[in-house]
Amino acid sequence: MRIHSLIVGGGIGGLAAALALARAGRTADLMEQAPAFSEVGAGIQLGPNVVRRLRALGLGEALNGIVAHPERLCVSSALNGGRIATMPLAGAMEQRYGAPYFTVHRADLHGLLLEAVRAQAEGAVMLSTGARIERLSTRGDEFVCAATDDGRAWEGDALVGADGVWGRVRPHIWPDAAPARPTGHMAFRALLKQDILPAALRSRQVDVWLAPRLHAVAYPVRGGEWLNLVVLVESAPDEAAADARDWDQAASRAALDRATGHVGQPLRALLDAVPAWRAWTLCDRTPLTGPQEMVDGRVALLGDAAHPMLPYLAQGAGMAIEDAVALAQQLGGCTPAQVPQALVRYAQARWARDAQVQARARRNGRIFHLGGPARWGRDMAMRLAGPALMDQ
Ligand code: FAD
Repeated sequence: MRIHSLIVGGGIGGLAAALALARAGRTADLMEQAPAFSEVGAGIQLGPNVVRRLRALGLGEALNGIVAHPERLCVSSALNGGRIATMPLAGAMEQRYGAPYFTVHRADLHGLLLEAVRAQAEGAVMLSTGARIERLSTRGDEFVCAATDDGRAWEGDALVGADGVWGRVRPHIWPDAAPARPTGHMAFRALLKQDILPAALRSRQVDVWLAPRLHAVAYPVRGGEWLNLVVLVESAPDEAAADARDWDQAASRAALDRATGHVGQPLRALLDAVPAWRAWTLCDRTPLTGPQEMVDGRVALLGDAAHPMLPYLAQGAGMAIEDAVALAQQLGGCTPAQVPQALVRYAQARWARDAQVQARARRNGRIFHLGGPARWGRDMAMRLAGPALMDQ
């Protein structure tokens, strides 16, 4: 007998899980609370580990059409622009890891996954929008049920909580667990067409600028036509981060200027050239301590719902996609009775890697934001060993 899964949340993780399950010959219902599927305007870096999985899901060619191929990663001082370290990306990543390093607009990646899910055989994945799941229950030992407050309900053999950092599935299973932790860090971000910038500020590479208590990242998306720019600061001015749950708040230039007062050229010129900023409050959770934090009976968590992290390793969406592929591998070959064991195997396969990336993202933040003499040691280490990437 084939199993049917319920997926709560239609972000990058939920859609990747739906696609992976459909490719494994399974059916799913996916419920998204928003009235329509959408993503915020921002960029995502995709390491070879993620590109490999997206290719395995049959998205390789379509992916080539929406990404940018940055030539290199350059790390510089945000204070004076002095070059600290460089690492080749184009060609070098493919050679070393068997897949390239891409940068992409979040909405383009989300749209690609959605299109691929919709193109699956009729009935493989049923998509419901405006479906905010408020209640979970079980029927006997065999079925798990999800319901909205307006009376709609779904039933399946397995339920996947892909509902992000503020999701409902996790607190339903572990009501006493601590909520996500506001880190005090904040992202100011902007997405702009490169042709509105002076030629000297346009970029075909990933640029990272480091300064005490902040760093900035810029890279091209949409075939290089657009530039994604993010400034990550440790202590944001109060008015800049009013709502920790809102990924997409308007941010004032005054708040940005206060947070980046010590930044010099050429980053200063780039910040000044940006017409409008959005703000994103960064929350994370203590790294997972074992598989038991990702699974309970017929319910499993995936992506930010399980392991929200600081974006300082650029791997949050990557881990959600890795989770999705691992989940489908386990659910792909099991019967309804075997679902709980399959989900335990999924959590066992994923938790340590997810926890390691959570921890390394925190550590990267500490290293990026070093001040005083310690930063000279960091710069020297980066010059000698190159910028650190995680295992790809
Ligand atoms: P989400 O994207 O949060 O999706 C959850 C979905 O569930 C949403 O659509 C939501 O509406 C829905 N939902 C919530 N509750 C319910 C409910 N009760 N019922 C139904 N639906 C519900 N990652 C990278 O890999 N590379 C990067 O370069 C990168 N850069 C980043 C930069 C910044 C500044 C930040 C903040 C993050 C970055 N990340 C990056 C991390 C990445 O954005 C997240 O890890 C990823 O989006 C998580 O995806 P998800 O599907 O798990 O959760």
